[in-house]
Order: sequence, then C-alpha cells, then structure tokens
Amino acid sequence: MNIHEYQAKELLAKYGVGIPAGIPALTVEEAVAAAKQLPGPLYVVKAQIHAGGRGKGKFKELGPDAKGGVRLAKSIEEVEAFAKEMLGNTLVTIQTGEAGKQVNRLYVTDGVDIDKEYYLSMLVDRATGRLAMVVSTEGGMDIEEVAHSTPEKITTITIDPAEGFKPHHGRAVAFALKLTGDLNKQAQKLAGQLYEAFVAMDCDMLEINPLVESKGGELLVLDTKMSFDSNALFRHPDIFALRDETEEDPAEIEASKYDLAYIKLDGDIGCMVNGAGLAMATMDIIKLNGSFPANFLDVGGGANKEKVTAAFKIILKDPNVKGILVNIFGGIMKCDVIAEGIVAAAKDVNLSVPLVVRLEGTNVQQGKDILANSGLPIVAANDLGDAAQKIVAEVKKAA
Ligand code: GDP
Ligand code: MG
Repeated sequence: MNIHEYQAKELLAKYGVGIPAGIPALTVEEAVAAAKQLPGPLYVVKAQIHAGGRGKGKFKELGPDAKGGVRLAKSIEEVEAFAKEMLGNTLVTIQTGEAGKQVNRLYVTDGVDIDKEYYLSMLVDRATGRLAMVVSTEGGMDIEEVAHSTPEKITTITIDPAEGFKPHHGRAVAFALKLTGDLNKQAQKLAGQLYEAFVAMDCDMLEINPLVESKGGELLVLDTKMSFDSNALFRHPDIFALRDETEEDPAEIEASKYDLAYIKLDGDIGCMVNGAGLAMATMDIIKLNGSFPANFLDVGGGANKEKVTAAFKIILKDPNVKGILVNIFGGIMKCDVIAEGIVAAAKDVNLSVPLVVRLEGTNVQQGKDILANSGLPIVAANDLGDAAQKIVAEVKKAA
C-alpha cells in the first residue's frame, strides 16, 4: 500500500526526522490558509498523487508550456494561483502513464533554501535477506539515470535485521554522502531514525529524493515516497486508515473485495488462473506465443461460481481485453464444479470475446463435457501450450 507524501512526512516526523513545515489542503481556500500559517516568504505548492516525477510533470489541461506539480511560490497570491492551476487537473509524470492522475490534494510547505540535493532510499533486499540503504550524492534527479550512467555514484549499505542498526551503518551512510562535520553527524542520526521507522511500520520501501542540505546547514527530507507490506497492515490500523482508494486502480479494489489477486497489465488477453505460479506461467506462455497478458489474476484455491463470475466481470471491464484464457488446475476444486462456474458466469456476463479454457485435474472429463454441452462458443484446450496458441489465434482472427 502506498500513501501520500504529506502522510509519509507526518509519520517520519514522529521518529525525529527533519521535515520542512507543511499543511495539506483540499481546496484553494485551504491552500491559502495553510500558506498563512507558514513563515514564508518562500512556499512550495505540491500536488499529492501516488506517483513521483511531479516537478517535471505536465498538466493535461494547461498546455505544454505550463509548469508541473511542484511549484515554488514567492507570495500568498502565488500559492493561490498555483493551487487554482493544479486542483482538479490531470498531472502526467513519467510514473503515472499517459492517462495521468487527477490532483485532488495539495501540500503547502515552507520553502527551503537548498545547498545540495542527495538521494537515500531503503528497501527489503530479498536476495540477501537484509534491509538495504541505497544512497547517492546525486539527488533530486532521476535516480534510474544515475544508476544507469554513473553506477559508481550509488552506494548500497545492507543491514542484517537480526543484528539491527549499528553506529557503523550510520557512519557508512554519512561517508557515502561525502558529508563532514555537523552534517555528517546529522546523516548518521537520520539513518538510525529511518531504520527504526522502517522496521516499526513494516515498510517495504522508503525513498527520499531529494534529501537536502539547507543553506542553514540542516539535513531535511524534502520529498518522500513510502509503501507498506500489505501482509503486515493488520498490525497498523492507523497506517491502513491513510489508504487513499481514489489513487488505486478501481478494478484492483473490486478484485480485493472478492479476495482475488488481480493486477492490471497492458496487453489484450485476459487471464483467469488459480495459483500464482500457474498465473505467472500462463502470462509467460502468452508472451511466448507473441501476445501480451491484460492482467495477472489468481482466483485462489477455493474458486466458486461467485468468484469466477466476479473475475470475468473485472477482466471484461478492461476495454483492452480481446480474449480470455482460463487456465485452471482442479485440485482442491474439482474440474466439473469449475466448468459449471465458468458456464454460468459466461452466460451471466454475456461474454463478448473469445474464451479458451484449459482444465486439468480431478474430474477433468466431466468438466470438459460440461463446457462442450453448454452451447457457448468456448474453445477447449488440452494443455498450456495448446491453450496459449488457441487464444492468441482467436484474438488475431477476431481483430
Ligand atoms: P517530485 O518531482 O515528485 O520528485 O517532487 P519533489 O518534491 O522531489 O520536488 C521536485 C524538485 O523541486 C526537487 O528536487 C527540488 O529541486 C524542488 N523543490 C522542492 N521543494 C523545494 C523547496 O522547498 N525549495 C526549493 N528551492 N526547491 C524545492
Ligand atoms: Mg522527488
């Protein structure tokens, strides 16, 4: 689960992390009122969307010359003008995709006089089973570009969770950032605070870009993105309450209501599969046959008619879907029960695209008979390879 920048900063502040003062706002009036509470004379008006790259982003409605979603304002009047430009409009950044995201919230912050920008992120490194702190002196800009063209400017420090954060980790972070004197001490302290926050809140990613050195010699978190391990959210009702469903894909929210693991992708073949491994294999084999999956969808072990129907509806809501491949292994569920579910669901949703079904497992013959006798144009497949070839061919034929 992701949260907004202002929420992440409020959480980090509780751990002592240095944050510029700021107030969220839902309307132009609130933005003006927020600015009046800040010291000035420099303010920053920041679009709150669950995507980065806002500064360099473009508003769809404002034309190519307009500025992006992070604006420096030198007066309350400018704060008001920028708030009016941003609220309700659609910001397109490198992370939002072409559709962009509508800006419904702003964050008005105290403007910082920046001396230098740094990068610092934390993540769970599954390869080493450790927490990793990734730091660079090249903050503020596109870190992927730094990693690509000057990888030597990125340092990764890993921390064994069994050992925990030790002073030497802090020193390594401060050294990698090439900080001296008091700033070096501040960086060591910050690293410890971030580690504590990351573990206590069950984060899976925390990115600070930029971390800045202010003209006053303070190390401050200017921008941050934070995401949490969904499996641990039950331990943090206060964090779960920060969820902003308007930032999430509506189909993914609908799927979670039925306990379906659904992730939307860009291709045109909808997939309905039981088991994450089989779902991954199904996506791979669709690609192998020259097409792209429209989604990842694991209906789980206990797929009943209700779940299968919900899954069909979610897949069909995606206008890109030109065909559906159902690939189910009847283990706990028997193939005949699944086949009945598929037939009922296909009738229920008035299926309008080709449907290829591959069943395997217990009662497979009864299942196939049910599909064949359903009167529906369901194409039966014998195995995974056959199923992928058939759905790709059906979609090409229909195009
Ligand atoms: P992002 O574009 O979504 O990553 O948004 P950021 O919050 O990182 O802002 C983008 C850039 O705006 C930063 O890298 C800074 O260069 C600039 N910026 C943001 N806040 C301030 C501020 O308080 N003072 C100054 N001078 N620049 C800022
Ligand atoms: Mg940033």
